[in-house]
Amino acid sequence: MAKSSPDYSLKVDGVEGLCPAGEAWAEKNLSDGKIPVFSCEGPCIRGEIARLAANRVAEEEPFARCCHAEVFCVPHSAMARWAKESDRAVMIDGCFLSCHGRILKNLIDESKIVHIDALPLYKKYTDKFLMDDVPEEERKEVAHQVAGKILAKLKEEVLSV
Ligand code: SF4
Repeated sequence: MAKSSPDYSLKVDGVEGLCPAGEAWAEKNLSDGKIPVFSCEGPCIRGEIARLAANRVAEEEPFARCCHAEVFCVPHSAMARWAKESDRAVMIDGCFLSCHGRILKNLIDESKIVHIDALPLYKKYTDKFLMDDVPEEERKEVAHQVAGKILAKLKEEVLSV
């Protein structure tokens, strides 16, 4: 079995229309100068910890949650424009495979992205796949701790600049 893949492209079908709520959210965040926060949203416990931590980070100023799927799949959306026009972006991936970060860095200026692998920040559950294998309260607590570490890093690397 191969242990790596070279760079590759995906064909994505075009789309018509826009999400009204997403448009309003992204337009407001763009005009307010909010920094978009993306997360890996894989179905496994690593994706879930990243997602919960991103939600928590995005509660703090000047951050706000961005929809990675709309940015990747609806290029004419305000969500994509917000991601491209922001001075910075935060990408929280669930593990070293960096699934979302590897796409995002090809869509927006890579130098603007603070890319974080959440797993080394808690170092647990590497033998588990499903999020449901970890009790909900424990997931939330671990994600809360991860978000605290990420916010400390962002305060040093983004907010102090
Ligand atoms: S980065 Fe890791 S946890 Fe996230 S989607 Fe990829 S393999 Fe899953």
